[in-house]
Amino acid sequence: MTNSEIADAYAQCVMRTYRPQPLAFVRGQGCRLWDVEGHEYLDFVAGIAVMAVGHSHPRIVEAVQRQAAQLVHTSNLYLIEPQVRLAERLTQLSFADRCFFCNSGTEANEAAIKLARKWAGRQQPERGRGIIAACNSFHGRTLGALAATAQEKYQKPFQPLLPGFTYVPFGDVAAIEAALNEDVCAVMLEPIQGEGGVIVPPENYLPGVRRLCTERGALLILDEVQTGLGRTGKWFAHEHWGVTPDIMALAKALGSGLPIGACVATEAAAAFEPGDHAATFGGNHLACAAALATLEVIEEEGLVEQAAQRGALLRELLEESLGAHPAFREVRGRGLLLALVLDPSYRKPAEIQSAALAQGLLLNAMGEDRVRLAPPLVVSEEQCRRAVQVIAACLA
Ligand code: PLP
Repeated sequence: MTNSEIADAYAQCVMRTYRPQPLAFVRGQGCRLWDVEGHEYLDFVAGIAVMAVGHSHPRIVEAVQRQAAQLVHTSNLYLIEPQVRLAERLTQLSFADRCFFCNSGTEANEAAIKLARKWAGRQQPERGRGIIAACNSFHGRTLGALAATAQEKYQKPFQPLLPGFTYVPFGDVAAIEAALNEDVCAVMLEPIQGEGGVIVPPENYLPGVRRLCTERGALLILDEVQTGLGRTGKWFAHEHWGVTPDIMALAKALGSGLPIGACVATEAAAAFEPGDHAATFGGNHLACAAALATLEVIEEEGLVEQAAQRGALLRELLEESLGAHPAFREVRGRGLLLALVLDPSYRKPAEIQSAALAQGLLLNAMGEDRVRLAPPLVVSEEQCRRAVQVIAACLA
């Protein structure tokens, strides 16, 4: 089939939740993808910050093939060795003592919300079960995660939402200070807002929020679904500010494309008891084998450090070659989670996205004025240069 034949068939029978590019990929390797018609693309989207180790990394392929041939799923009614090994690895890499496995970032956040409420009920029964979230956040689209996603366009059609959420401006410690009272059991934030436009908060923000949560006896939940596992140049973005949360949500890069999410927590916050929460597929053999191999590759190939270095290079190249252009505003982000912010009166992000696509570069247009660049962490210097050349040509 051709790209357009697949697009026509899609239009007939797939529910209209997405507006995909009329492009069907059939093969990937590292930072490169090939569509059904054989055209090659340089991938600076990485499956929305998922393919950290690149497409079809031989170590992931081998781990998945081996595990699929051996055993895929038995359920959490029995012990799952790869799950136990993955939990050990995540607790070694992070502040966390315990892990719950699910299938997506949204589910990891649902688990985090339930965990915070369970903790409050057990720890401080007189305390309210409210949760403070940030305006412009993104935590997912199921009804709990959506209640934490403080963006009207996502929430409005689906009201009434889960009650108990208060929204404050992102980056404003004083706003948290004013809202964090006895009715609140947790503050839930992305350390860097991803879907909201790659927004890095002021330096004092996370340390200030951490201090307030500790002083007032509330939990800090960090959603590191997009920022975690090396993407920002640290294993977890909260390390940039020298703070640790009580609960953290992970997903995206964890399974290199196999669906897996994790809600990880300190021993004190890990209040779930048998029967409180569950997921049939959560932490099954196959997803955990992929995740274990992913963590090994990130570590052995030095991809956390590489994300910091390549991210700095990419930013420098963008500033160098586009800085003088009248449409250029700034480059935001950390490591390899970057957004190029442009004057939309000059070129709309969607126009840049289409022009780049026509030249074989995948970018992600975000909102009114920016384009996200989130290539696999294995991206080479040469590929960074090529991407910037294409973007410059699209702007010219
Ligand atoms: N949290 C953050 C910070 C995200 O960026 C996303 C997805 O973009 C989600 C949660 C939802 O993750 P998923 O689509 O895996 O459910």
